[in-house]
Amino acid sequence: MSNDIRNVVIIGSGPAGLTAALYTARADLKPLVLAGVKWGGQLMLTTEVENYPGFVDGILGPELMTVFRKQAERFGAEILNEDVSKVDFKAKPFKVSVGQKVYQARAVIIATGAETNWLGLPNEQKLIGRGVSSCAPCDAWFFKDKKVVVVGGGDSAMEEALTLTKFATDVSIVHRREQFRASKIMLDRARANKKISFILNSEVMDVLGKDKVEGIKIKNKQDGSARELAIDGMFVAIGHHPMTDIFRGQIELDEKGYVKKIRNPKSEIRNQYNMMTSVEGVFVAGDVHDYHYRQAVTAAGYGCQAALEAERWIESQE
Ligand code: NAP
Repeated sequence: MSNDIRNVVIIGSGPAGLTAALYTARADLKPLVLAGVKWGGQLMLTTEVENYPGFVDGILGPELMTVFRKQAERFGAEILNEDVSKVDFKAKPFKVSVGQKVYQARAVIIATGAETNWLGLPNEQKLIGRGVSSCAPCDAWFFKDKKVVVVGGGDSAMEEALTLTKFATDVSIVHRREQFRASKIMLDRARANKKISFILNSEVMDVLGKDKVEGIKIKNKQDGSARELAIDGMFVAIGHHPMTDIFRGQIELDEKGYVKKIRNPKSEIRNQYNMMTSVEGVFVAGDVHDYHYRQAVTAAGYGCQAALEAERWIESQE
């Protein structure tokens, strides 16, 4: 175990983690970022990002994250591409382990993000960014006058479909059941939109196309029949899973495993620190607690908030 006690250890290196790194570095807190072996988060898997403010012509996801990283490093953030294997928040200083190595910290910012649930189809992964997507606000623009499907029956699927109707000519929602998990209001909105149609009791068996999506193969679960549908894009909206396994038993998670922010009205201290978790001194930022917006820019905003709160909290402890 290193005897050094770090002011702040940031776990995760997407827009939330690296923004937190930038702000804490500029506050002279000398943050350590445990970025993960696969650093950079979900944007490393995307191509063109056109909705991150500041880039008139857009920017490639991996390029954007490299800029984020260099900017944080310029102010002294130490960033290691290591995977955290264990945390101990039961006593102070907090302990964050990478295998046998143990880092100690006064404050921790959790920014491990969430991962898209994919269908697990043979061709799906290789066509991501080539017609397969999980983010309509990011990619709808590329489907102007095209035909797309959205897979899923929850609010995300309805929202993705509605967003896509602004560009695509034809949006089919493929859902595996007849009943929806989506709220009535979202479902009604989708049903009222003339561009949206529904393919129910159906499962996508594969995505067709070599270099780009050309169609999908679907199976009707009631009669077992299979057919091919020519489309240009497939949006998968079957949920996300937060990267919180290592925090189980250490901080409070909600029923879906997302990190809970705690605003205990009885506790004066917690009320003062917006991004604090159930453990004082442990903060959260980005998709690991936010399943609603899930945008790079909102994650960066949360990273900034967590950093400012952590800075104030560390000061209050001195
Ligand atoms: P969700 O509510 O869990 O819905 C996931 C949907 O995907 C379900 O319909 C599920 O089918 C389907 N699904 C799951 N695994 C599948 C698979 N392997 N193959 C095919 N279909 C599969 O997830 P979500 O829609 O992402 O929403 C997450 C949370 O965010 C919810 O609380 C939601 O209300 C909220 N949200 C709110 C809004 C809004 O209010 N504007 C927008 C987006 C999200 P089954 O129904 O058969 O299980």
